[in-house]
Amino acid sequence: MPLTASHLYDYLQCPHKVWRDLHGPQDEKSDEKNDFVELLWKKGVQHEENIIAKLGEFENLADGSLEERFAKTLRAMEEGVDLIYQGVIEADGLRGIPDLLHKLPDGMYLPVDIKSGMAFSGADSKKGKEGKYKKDYAAQLCLYTDILRKLGFATHKLGKIIDGHRKETIYELELPQGPQIPETYWGLYERLKAEIIPLMEDRDRNKPAMSGICKLCPWYVSCKKWCEDNDDLTNIFDLGRAKRNTLNDDLTIDKVHELPDVDIEEIMSKKKKDRHFLPGIAEKSLTKIVRRANILVNVKTPVLHEPIDFPDVSYELFFDIENDPTQEFVYLHGVYERGPKGERFLDFTTKEMSPEEEEGAWKRFWNYIDSLPKDDYAVYYYSAHEKTTYKKMQKQYSDVISAEKVEEFFDNPNAIDLYQIILKKTDWPLGSYGLKAIAQYLGFKWQDKNPSGAASIEWFNQYIETKDPEILERILIYNKDDCRATMVVKDALGRL
Ligand code: SF4
Repeated sequence: MPLTASHLYDYLQCPHKVWRDLHGPQDEKSDEKNDFVELLWKKGVQHEENIIAKLGEFENLADGSLEERFAKTLRAMEEGVDLIYQGVIEADGLRGIPDLLHKLPDGMYLPVDIKSGMAFSGADSKKGKEGKYKKDYAAQLCLYTDILRKLGFATHKLGKIIDGHRKETIYELELPQGPQIPETYWGLYERLKAEIIPLMEDRDRNKPAMSGICKLCPWYVSCKKWCEDNDDLTNIFDLGRAKRNTLNDDLTIDKVHELPDVDIEEIMSKKKKDRHFLPGIAEKSLTKIVRRANILVNVKTPVLHEPIDFPDVSYELFFDIENDPTQEFVYLHGVYERGPKGERFLDFTTKEMSPEEEEGAWKRFWNYIDSLPKDDYAVYYYSAHEKTTYKKMQKQYSDVISAEKVEEFFDNPNAIDLYQIILKKTDWPLGSYGLKAIAQYLGFKWQDKNPSGAASIEWFNQYIETKDPEILERILIYNKDDCRATMVVKDALGRL
């Protein structure tokens, strides 16, 4: 099987996936479609179609078998066709399907890929920071250029990205990855190839590692089971693959139950003498890992490290927003209110995908906040997402509320990010400290059979297309449950 851009992408997302896809227990792979992944795919296709529609003349090689398309692509390049769409190129066990092949003045070809995301990561226009090339985009363009060079249709090491804003960016693939990373993007590609091919050929194997991206992966249940059965260190919250591998290699520890007994002092004294020992794991970090391992293995209940004081107020608001990051659109602000007259759920929802609707829902949310007795209410939310999103919205809809008022709202000691409290003051016998993991541990059940923010985004897109009130109801029930789950967590923290 030839190495393709998908292998490079998968390996950058999770170094285990390439091996598991080819040699893992296929009966354990989920074939359930992931609505959010499908939505992203649909949006990518739509974006590509929009770009292609404005390209002018090109040779379309999207149809036929791979062999036929490869033969046609070679012929088209030999004949000097200016623009080739969806050509297939192959050489030395590598295969690429660049969206476009663009003929250069010297007769060579430049690979071009159309992306719905931005060409750079970490860009900040306010600070004049352009950001870095995206590693997966760069690796993909390296693959195409490598094949073109082997076929004699490139002498350069360049590629082009047309991004979600239709901006065209030339990727110079021999540039270093950053001021602190001398390895070039081409060097990264060569390294990835050298690591991936033995995995594809089953000459090398690596292990699953539980991380945030696993939930969107068809191997989630299978890898989770592997990690549980093997008592893998990535069952410890926030440990991750890199630290797991370091602990495996340098301490020869690969089971959670071996960690509580380690001698941290002795390990740190060895680390002081040998700078190559335990890279990236300082004393504070190791102490936290060992403490969490001890809670999983021995304590088995939540632990409070510092007292928590919650404000004594008449109204408590448990607050959660739903937004579609693919379109930077906030479609719901949900509040579960607990007050003197009891409990109720309030939603400030958009019924169309338009700036007017988004602004209107946000305005209604702030009117509601203004209607509450000043300094006699507290707001609970989970993670920095609400705060970051509201700061962005304020820039877009500055007539609704001033930047100072948004700051004031979140800086108020009565506006409490429970996730920060959980992180700083508690530990749990769980591999995830996300809202769902903690609330479910506390016995809370979501009414929906598939509760997730990613699914809610897909439902909202369906609702916009169909205007089916049942879909809207599903979105609201899901959001209400998220708000109620936040309340359950707050109450449990109070009891701790
Ligand atoms: S579930 Fe996680 S570890 Fe397993 S293949 Fe998917 S991303 Fe990798």
